[in-house]
This record gives sequence, structure tokens and C-alpha cells, in this order.
Amino acid sequence: MSDAEKTAIPQVHAFRVTRTFQALLRLGLALVPFVAIAYLQLFQDPSMTFRNHGIHELAIAVSTLLSGFITYVTWVCYRSSGEVFLRWLVLGLLGFTLLYALHGLFTGLSEHHPYLFAIYGPVSRLAMAACCLVAMRRFGVPAEEPGDRRLGWFWWTGLGVFAAAAVLAGVGALFLPGWMNLVRKGVETLALVTSALAIIAFQIRPARSPLMMAYIFSLSLFAQSSLSFLLASEWSHQWWLAHAIFAAGFFVLSYGIIQAYHTTRSFSAAYSQEEVMEQLRLEKLRADQALVKLEDANQRLLALAATDALTGAANRRQYGDRVVAEVARAQRKGFPLALLALDVDHFKQVNDAHGHPAGDAVLKAFVGVMQAIVRPSDLVTRTGGEEFKILLPDTGLEEAVAIAERVRSGVAAMEVRLDADAAPIGVTVSIGCALLVGDMASTETVADERLYLAKTQGRNRVVWRDATTGAENGVSDNS
Ligand code: GH3
Ligand code: MG
Ligand code: MG
Repeated sequence: MSDAEKTAIPQVHAFRVTRTFQALLRLGLALVPFVAIAYLQLFQDPSMTFRNHGIHELAIAVSTLLSGFITYVTWVCYRSSGEVFLRWLVLGLLGFTLLYALHGLFTGLSEHHPYLFAIYGPVSRLAMAACCLVAMRRFGVPAEEPGDRRLGWFWWTGLGVFAAAAVLAGVGALFLPGWMNLVRKGVETLALVTSALAIIAFQIRPARSPLMMAYIFSLSLFAQSSLSFLLASEWSHQWWLAHAIFAAGFFVLSYGIIQAYHTTRSFSAAYSQEEVMEQLRLEKLRADQALVKLEDANQRLLALAATDALTGAANRRQYGDRVVAEVARAQRKGFPLALLALDVDHFKQVNDAHGHPAGDAVLKAFVGVMQAIVRPSDLVTRTGGEEFKILLPDTGLEEAVAIAERVRSGVAAMEVRLDADAAPIGVTVSIGCALLVGDMASTETVADERLYLAKTQGRNRVVWRDATTGAENGVSDNS
């Protein structure tokens, strides 16, 4: 096991432990209201109540305004993203707003018609919880097309169901008061169970979105508020606490919706910090890879711009750049710099006898021979049609002449065939050698003059100036 693996294992354990701790923290936070519910259940005096219509009416007026506003924001998000989950959430919030408003509206009748007042609380919570459960089940299904996000049968059906529930509850409260305590508890229990089912649905198929954490958290508060309402009698402390717990759930849900509104206007397209970091890492990797490719392409482009297309030898531009650098280096360090001027002999005859494509093939092979002989630091340049220069850094005249001679004999031995049956084509080359003295322009002139001499002396030869006598000398294989 490598050291990296050994350190990786405790890290994996630490990761698991912190993940579990994180889940427990969430659970603990979600169940905080339960502590207050249990406390009041165990210690409150049932005779102690706080009967204040004004505060109740004010609280419900604020809740109705707030839920109306949040319904609108959720509707805007739904219209923008087409998320089916949000469609159900809008319906749930709408149902809650309308039915809960009735609960507030009938506060004044709580003494004479206690059930007319009491029934709309659980009914509004059940409407909300039922839509939240369906929303949970519809989470992540493909978004609706923009054309489908209009007011249509879905909304009218939903409103119809709410209206029917309101009428039924009202009729029951007025005409069947004997049943209403049971009905109220039954509806509240259904609201509790429905919220719990939505939470269970989430645990079975967790939706990876941080906004869903807010959603599930609010559902747990809704469930606990229903529990608190079940345990409470009107105007008791438990009853007021139940309102507060529901309000807390509503705030958390509203927070999630506002977050969605300010980001992607969707619950499913919101990402956790981990996902964003991972996304960033992948994007960075992609950008780095693209950069490497771009640099590679740039290098190739530069190479193309610096080389001759037919032979692959350097072109004049590259030659000019290298000359500047090499002359400066040679002068700075006192190293010798040699130059060979080359011209293929009677090349016109090759074209005339074998055709232009054959001439091209000979030029390519000629460059191949030169490049096989020189060092990687030397530069073979095509300066004209069948004219070349070889720049030889750190090279004295003697060594340059030896290289030139190797090129000359290598070219003389070269045989080019256009295809297997064709007769071999051979050429020779004349070469002038010069050593850098002064600037490169005069060195080129000297090399060209010697090349000219090589031509006039019979071609297929290397010409240089003898360092000691100062006379022009040559070697050839004409012997
Ligand atoms: P010399 O020994 O005096 O140099 O004779 P030469 O025939 O080599 O010289 P000349 O300058 O008369 O002819 C050069 C020929 O090179 C003429 C031209 O058609 C040919 N040439 C130049 N560039 C290319 C090329 O890219 N491909 C081919 N196939 N031929 C080329
Ligand atoms: Mg020529
Ligand atoms: Mg020539």
C-alpha cells in the first residue's frame, strides 16, 4: 500500500463521519420544534389560554399577504423554468392562501361558530401538504414547454377542488357540528401524514438540490405544526406554538423560493456547493485541455509559418530570425558561426527530363539528405527554388567544410525514384562555405561567391577560403 493510499483511508473515514454528522445535524435542527411541543404538552396548564382575536387576525392577515406574495414569486419561477414541481407548489400555496384567509376571516365567529373558525386551519394545511407531496413526486420530470405554462384546466380544477373543500367544510361546520371535532382532527392528521409522506418520498429518492433541503425542512415543520395543532385546544399556548411552527416552515419554504427566483428560477437546476465546485473543476480541466490544444495548434501554425511547404526546410523568415539570434550569440560568446550556400546542379535538366513533379521529389529528398547529416541545432533553409543555406552554429570552418563535404557526397549518392519501376534520378550539389566575419550580409555574399566558384570550377564541389593562405580552395569528387 502506498503512502498516498495510507493517508487516503483515514480521510475516507473522516469524510463518512462528517457526512453522517451533517445528516444528524439536519435532523436535529428539523426536530427542534418537537422539543417545544413536548415541553408544552408536559408542562403547560390547560386552563391557561391567550384569547386575543386581534393578534390572531393580524397574524393571519400578515400570513395571507405573505403567502399571496410567495405564491406570485413561485408562479413567476414556474413561468420561467416550466418546472412541474413548481406548478404544484404554486397550487399548494394558492390553496393555502385562499383557505387560510377564511380561517382568519372567521376569527370573529369563533365564539358562536367555533368549527367554522377552526376547520379552515387544518383544511388549508392539508391543501398545502397534499400539493407538496405531489410536487415531491413530480420533482425532476422534464420541464413544460413555454406554451403549456398558461392558465388552463389544471388551475381551474385546482381552484374548483379548493372551493369544494371550503364549501364542504363550511356546510359541515354549520350543519354537522357534532362531527366537526372528529373531522378537524382527521383533516389535521391527514395533513401531518401527507407532509410525512412527502419527507419519506424524499428519503427514498433524494433530489440532489440544496433548495430541496429547505423544502424538506419546511415540510418537517409543517408536520410538526400539525402535531402541535392536534395536541392543542383553541387559544392554548400549544395552539399558538403550532401557528409559530407553521410560520417558521413557511418562512423556510419562502426562503427557498426566493433563492430559486434569484438564481435559476427552478428547484432542480439549483446546485449544491459541492456540485458547483465539481463543475468548476471539470470546466477548469476542459479549459486547460483546450489551452494545451490551442498551444499545440499555435506551435504547428508557427512551424508552418516558419517552414517551406514543399520540402519542410526552414523558410527565409525563420532563417532571418535565427541569423539574428545566432550572430548575437556568436559575437557575445566568441563562438564561430559557419554558413553553407548550396545550389543543385543542372536542376533545370531534372525538370526537363523527368517533369516538374520529379523535380519536386528530388528537392524533398535533397532536403532529407541534408537534414539527416546536420545537427538538430543547425538550420537548413530553402532560400530560393533549388537554392539553400545551412546555418551552422558553434562550427569552425574546418568542421563546416567536413559537413559540406558529407552533404555533397550524400547528395551525389542519392537516388530518387518516383515509383518502383522508374529509373533512378540523381543530382549533385555545389556548396560555398563561409565563416562569420563582420555581419551576416557580407558572410552570405562570401558564401555565394564561393558557391559561384564551385559552379564555375565544374560543380559537385565544396569551395572555401583557406584560412592560412587566404586562397580559394575546393574539394570535389570529379577525380
Ligand atoms: P545550375 O547548375 O547552374 O544551378 O543549373 P540549374 O539548372 O540548377 O539552374 P537554373 O537556375 O537555370 O534552374 C533552376 C531550376 O529550378 C529552374 C526552375 O524551374 C527549377 N525550380 C525552382 N523551384 C522549383 C520547384 O519548386 N520545383 C521544381 N520541380 N523545380 C523548381
Ligand atoms: Mg539556382
Ligand atoms: Mg541550380
